[in-house]
Amino acid sequence: MDTIVLKFGGSSLSDNINLNIVAKKIIELKEEGNRIICVVSAQGKTTDNLIKEAKELSAIPNEREMDALLSTGEQMSASKLAILLTMLGHKAISLTGWQAGIYTNSDYQSSKIINIDVTRINEELNKGRIVIVTGFQGIDEKQNITTLGRGGSDTTAVAIAAAVKAAHCYIFSDVDGVYTADPRDVKLAHKLNSISYEEMSYISGEGAKVLHDRCVELAEKYNMPIIAASTFNKNKGTEIANSMEETLIKSIIKNDNILITKIEGIENPYELLKKLTKNKIKIGKYNYENKILNFTINKVNRAKVEKILDKEKGNTTIKSVTKISIVGSGVSNHMEILEIVLKAIEEIKDKIIDIDVSACKISILFDSIIETKYLNDLHDSLLKEKYI
Ligand code: ADP
Ligand code: ASP
Ligand code: MG
Repeated sequence: MDTIVLKFGGSSLSDNINLNIVAKKIIELKEEGNRIICVVSAQGKTTDNLIKEAKELSAIPNEREMDALLSTGEQMSASKLAILLTMLGHKAISLTGWQAGIYTNSDYQSSKIINIDVTRINEELNKGRIVIVTGFQGIDEKQNITTLGRGGSDTTAVAIAAAVKAAHCYIFSDVDGVYTADPRDVKLAHKLNSISYEEMSYISGEGAKVLHDRCVELAEKYNMPIIAASTFNKNKGTEIANSMEETLIKSIIKNDNILITKIEGIENPYELLKKLTKNKIKIGKYNYENKILNFTINKVNRAKVEKILDKEKGNTTIKSVTKISIVGSGVSNHMEILEIVLKAIEEIKDKIIDIDVSACKISILFDSIIETKYLNDLHDSLLKEKYI
């Protein structure tokens, strides 16, 4: 009998109709003879709404309390699903992150799982129960509730799958796999049958929402195959494992969640950098020349960075920019790809502020938000030349 982990995201759990679809899927897989662990996200936009409500009370809410607040979203969906499965005649139990033995460090809002004690999960499985675990959360050594960062339920699922030595980890969402670009934005995007851990890690790292970046790292470390598939149909999903597809480029990503900060007249950028890293703010591109400092951050960190910069001398501006990344193992060995890319974005060439080519990706940073049309143009050009 295989143990499998099934993760359901917010859109799959958004209302009672969808909860019933999820329950049906779980029951089908259980009746095939599997031991089932489900990991659930909060329903629909619950987490966004909780963040909004907290920010109405304080611009930079206390991070420990934010974790206590946000973890409640997942508790609601887990218990509702257990109520429904029980009503449908199946033994089920919901467990919070801490009841499930998920121990993390104390980096509130972006904690890392350090250990999972699977005793309780195994006890419940042995009683024939479907075990529903709240995603995205755990407990630190002082018993504080912690969360793993936005989208972190994927990581909970893979970590549990590795800890219980599951056969597979399914990540179910509103899309039936990993596509060559976000299918909401790019009409001709097509689904990949399989993709390597390394490439998927770049796709997530560059900001594609479909999988949490740390879940891919963990899956690679424990050699855990992930299947990304849809909650709402039975289409074959994308397998993320040690496999390779034929096309060179796997996906292109448009990330509009980046801010570029420019400080003119700054004398000691090194001290500022230390303050930013001490506050766990991840810096992307960094450049210092003629007393002008430019660096990029994710927009979720805006308020924190503004607070730190408040004490800085110099003229500061912060604005939203777009990064487009083209991911595929070995792209840097094919300079003709960069040629195609540059041709496709020629109309916006004056907006390019940085080009970064590495073994697995080409990234282009623009000095403002770029229309989705250019992502489509780029995808079409690469498709025409059979690179994607
Ligand atoms: P969940 O709420 O189930 O965790 P997410 O919203 O986090 O789901 O991820 C699914 C979404 O990821 C899709 O609706 C899709 O718009 C987006 N997405 C972005 N890039 C890709 C891609 N390359 N392939 C598939 N989906 C993508
Ligand atoms: N509910 C959390 C979020 O919205 C975690 C997750 O969905 O994975 O980010
Ligand atoms: Mg997600």
